[in-house]
Amino acid sequence: MSAVSFQDYAQASIHPKTKPLVSVIIPFLNESEVLEQCHQRVTKALSELQQGCEIIYIDDGSQDQSWHMVSQFNHPLHYVRSLRLSRNFGKEAAMSAGLKAAAGRCVILLDADLQDPPEYIPQMVEAWRNGAQVVEMQRRERQGENWLKRFTAHGFYRFMSYVSDHSITENVGDFRLMDEKVVKVINTLPERTRFMKGLLAWPGFRRQVLSFDRDPRLAGQTKWNYPKLIHLALEGITSFSTKPLRWATMAGLATSLAAFVMALVVFTKTLIWGEPVVGYPSTILIILFLGGIQLLSIGVLGEYVGRLFIESKQRPLYVLMEEAITKPSHTNTDTRTL
Ligand code: UDP
Ligand code: MG
Repeated sequence: MSAVSFQDYAQASIHPKTKPLVSVIIPFLNESEVLEQCHQRVTKALSELQQGCEIIYIDDGSQDQSWHMVSQFNHPLHYVRSLRLSRNFGKEAAMSAGLKAAAGRCVILLDADLQDPPEYIPQMVEAWRNGAQVVEMQRRERQGENWLKRFTAHGFYRFMSYVSDHSITENVGDFRLMDEKVVKVINTLPERTRFMKGLLAWPGFRRQVLSFDRDPRLAGQTKWNYPKLIHLALEGITSFSTKPLRWATMAGLATSLAAFVMALVVFTKTLIWGEPVVGYPSTILIILFLGGIQLLSIGVLGEYVGRLFIESKQRPLYVLMEEAITKPSHTNTDTRTL
């Protein structure tokens, strides 16, 4: 017999009394080495709250045993819900799927590799109970990361807060708690380019920052490399600011002004002293300089046109393939293909 019908689940979730206190959202890609321990540590942390919660696993197109594992997870007190995306859509899309599915009164985003220690959950919920609507977890140390990553990350946060109109707290990743009101707002943001750090910060609300020590990855490999990080940075900048376009215009204005002044100087010089044919190096220099600025500006423009192109297609952010739910104190799972 089925453990819980999907209809029951949806209905249970809309009553404030039966709403899970917290929805913990865990996106993952090929994390079979760590999932067992992740589930243990998350449920242990949740048990301190002594109220029914919900854990949502989102399988972002894993090729290993991960889906098989999460779809078997269960707990005496909490709902365990697993969503399987039809392929790898990226962590940002997986988190969006989790936020859409969450039914809790507040939501916590967590990495499966246990770099964000679940033991902080009670502290985060405490801050929420005391009135914070967003609890951002700020890394005290970037353990297990080399100086280059730290340096570039720092540079990126500085640059981002300079170019965008609202600030992104430095060294705060996706690990955070959000009230259901905040989640509701984020779920209405329609963009396909999901720069989550920006989207999560956009609604505002009452914020509180807590510090934590980020652990090294428990096992397996990071899914991020420099090309991916550069892509993410470009996406972040172009989806949250039009300042680079302004700079391109400014560069154009500045060079035009310089050219005008130079023309006056050359014209006057020629009139007074005549013009012997010299100045090859300076001519080449100016041509290269102008060419560079033009190409750069076209590139910047292209980045924005590219975003418009992606947005205009209105494709879904992700495609759900399968879903599994286990009700509290049940061990059998109800699965369905979507
Ligand atoms: N992840 C994901 N989809 C991806 C890449 C990563 O769901 O396309 C998950 C991954 O399994 C982990 C979390 O996102 O739970 C953070 O990824 P990772 O540890 O590789 O990133 P890092 O911590 O190195 O920034
Ligand atoms: Mg990690």
